[in-house]
Amino acid sequence: MTDDKKSAQEFKLDPDNELRFEVESKNEKVYLILKAGLAEVFGTEIVKGKTYEFSSGAKVAIYTWQGCTIEVKGKTDVIYVAKETPMVTYSNCHAALEFMRIEADKENKKGPTAMIVGPNDVGKSTVCRILLNYAVRMGRRPIFVDLDMGQGQISIPGTIGALLIERPAAIDEGFSQEAPLVYHFGHKTPSANITLSEMLINQLANTVKERLEVNKKTRSSGVIINTCGWIKGGGYKQVLHAAKSFEVDVIMVLDQERLYNELVRDIPNFVKVVFLQKSGGVVERSKTARSESRDQRIREYFYGTPKNSMYPHSFDVKWSEIKLYKIGAPPLPDSCLPLGMKADDHLTKLVLLTPNPGILHHLLAVSFAEKDDDEILLNHVAGFVCVTNVDNERQTITLLSPQPKPLPNNILLFSELQFMDSH
Ligand code: ATP
Repeated sequence: MTDDKKSAQEFKLDPDNELRFEVESKNEKVYLILKAGLAEVFGTEIVKGKTYEFSSGAKVAIYTWQGCTIEVKGKTDVIYVAKETPMVTYSNCHAALEFMRIEADKENKKGPTAMIVGPNDVGKSTVCRILLNYAVRMGRRPIFVDLDMGQGQISIPGTIGALLIERPAAIDEGFSQEAPLVYHFGHKTPSANITLSEMLINQLANTVKERLEVNKKTRSSGVIINTCGWIKGGGYKQVLHAAKSFEVDVIMVLDQERLYNELVRDIPNFVKVVFLQKSGGVVERSKTARSESRDQRIREYFYGTPKNSMYPHSFDVKWSEIKLYKIGAPPLPDSCLPLGMKADDHLTKLVLLTPNPGILHHLLAVSFAEKDDDEILLNHVAGFVCVTNVDNERQTITLLSPQPKPLPNNILLFSELQFMDSH
């Protein structure tokens, strides 16, 4: 069977097999129908007879516990059936977490907080999705925390956040983004400002803890944390920092034995550290593919998905109507530091910016902060706008925004991330 065959192809899968495919060509669509049996995509059950649509960039695995027949229509770039998958191990991890949730329920305590770590492209986000889907299918309401600033699944790149999971992820569009809790970081990798990143992780951890305290069901369901693939040097310190902040009970290490051994050495004994194989299906992404996927996420933030289009607004605001801040000032040499100021304090300093051509195409976070003081840094954000024009003469900027005018707040934070609006 050729890969690029346009007509329908039928696959009969034995139990514990997985059909994997990728859609790469632009504007190509691939359709999938479950004809018989039971199957799931990253933990979400497929409805028999329903047509699912996948577009360019999709990398999908259809796994079956019982065996099934699947029809695939359209041009896939790769398509094959894998007989070896780590799904049984992942399902055992779910069972262990579920056991901890049952215990938590009995004692009215906090359920498990599990963090998934590993290098880039080992399937960390996918494992989180599988564990969350399995939990929600058992009637749990876990919190998903995403600390991956570059390729996260909550809000847009350059942020960290948390989401209450109330239903399984949609097969083609992921988890529904209702009322996410989002913190603005403004860079695509934590190495750009480790001090700020650690402060935001603490803040997010505290807010998540508060939410667990007030909601019994969520408390016993626990938390699943996704992390970024930066795990060497400063990245490893961040992993330790996040583990401590969130008081994790379990760390699942994907693929890398060295990281596993380092964590066993450095993490207190009451935290379980487990090693998991990565799936042979996880697709490595090049730098370009990562950058395209960031663009895609931002585009979807403003314009929605093919199934769920959105129509953003464009409007002008006067420079005098907003307060635009950038986080982080240039460093001062040690000898010039004012008394009592630490050498890295500049990293979390708020600098007021006058709009200028340098902010064109940049994203700006709309803060929830009520006062413009240092707390702005740690406030979560209402959403994002993109600067599509800077008019020096009229002293206005044009913003692309998911909401119509007026902005929910006049305090805006500059992001290093850019979006070229080609619509
Ligand atoms: P990052 O380094 O960006 O954080 P990650 O480790 O979180 O990546 P994922 O995003 O989970 O990795 O997976 C990378 C890609 O591989 C995704 O597009 C995902 O859909 C795909 N993928 C994961 N598991 C499978 C599988 N079993 N079969 C086919 N594709 C898969």
